[in-house]
Amino acid sequence: MERKYFKEKLTELVAIPTIREKEMLKESSEALDLIESWADSALSKRRIKNGKTEILLLGNGNLLNPDIGYLAHVDVVDADKEMFKMTETDGKFYGRGVSDMKFSIPIGIEILNKLAKDKGAPVMTLAITTDEEVGGGDGGNYLANEIKFIPEVLIVPDGGDDFVFVNKSKGKATHASTPWLGKNALTPLIKIASGLGAIYDQNSASPNWETTMNLGVLQGGKSTNQVCDEATLKLDFRFPETRSANEILEEVRKASEKIDPNLSIKLGAQGDPIYTDIKNLEVTRFLKIARDVLGRNIKIEGENGASDARYWAKYNIPIIMKPNGGGIHSDKEWIDVESCLTYYEILSKYVNEFTSII
Ligand SMILES: [Zn+2]
Repeated sequence: MERKYFKEKLTELVAIPTIREKEMLKESSEALDLIESWADSALSKRRIKNGKTEILLLGNGNLLNPDIGYLAHVDVVDADKEMFKMTETDGKFYGRGVSDMKFSIPIGIEILNKLAKDKGAPVMTLAITTDEEVGGGDGGNYLANEIKFIPEVLIVPDGGDDFVFVNKSKGKATHASTPWLGKNALTPLIKIASGLGAIYDQNSASPNWETTMNLGVLQGGKSTNQVCDEATLKLDFRFPETRSANEILEEVRKASEKIDPNLSIKLGAQGDPIYTDIKNLEVTRFLKIARDVLGRNIKIEGENGASDARYWAKYNIPIIMKPNGGGIHSDKEWIDVESCLTYYEILSKYVNEFTSII
């Protein structure tokens, strides 16, 4: 991939403020149009609209069951206006989304455009969603569980900074309890929060691979001299591959029943933890190519962040790794240009040497 091509395309993409939390849906649509316009005309295209979310699939064969899937999201978190003008300093691009994860889109397109010209090439699909930063419920979730976009391997450059291979990543479960009672509704929720806090607070105090809990929202009451009749407690759990969202839900349910059987409990956004088997043939092949191109060993680590890859966790296929970048969600978001070109080289080698096992 030419550096000039990469910079040009990324500049254009960064310029569109695809801020999903601000419901900039027109902009998301525009970004997908732009990406579509880069694609070779021989490629298959499919635009999906699911609720407020739009998805773009581009590929050189069976779009839903390709050999290789490549998952990206074009939505970004909010930022100051000037961050949508990409700049370059000391071999790094700065701007909103350069690292999370617009950098990956010109790379994916360039690889696909090359495959489009080759009849016997492996089949690859680039899937681009527009709602990852708000949970991916209508994007990634819909692709994996409703329309069954299931490739043999799924490359997700949304984690694993500086070529770290992410072999496991925590799952996510949110719970909300909303009682409606004749007595003070805040009291039982405070008891639950402090009971669960006693179990999980120590895990949240320092980075580790245990289940953590964040007391996210405790809401209720109108004034100091009124009995609060409705209250909500929202908890956010992050858990390793040894646990499941349902197991945690049961734990919360049991804790609540002891305190007040009238509490209602609901599972909010959720996702299973990711675990990728590094002995899997495709993973081994990917790691070998990455090592050869980089000329160094690849670190294999767990990561605490969650991405849309979690919707494919049950298939054990995500390959999570990205070039050197940082400052995501901050006003100093950056990506190293050289390492993007290296990432392209790794991916391109991996894709071109792919031999379908079906
Ligand atoms: Zn991301």
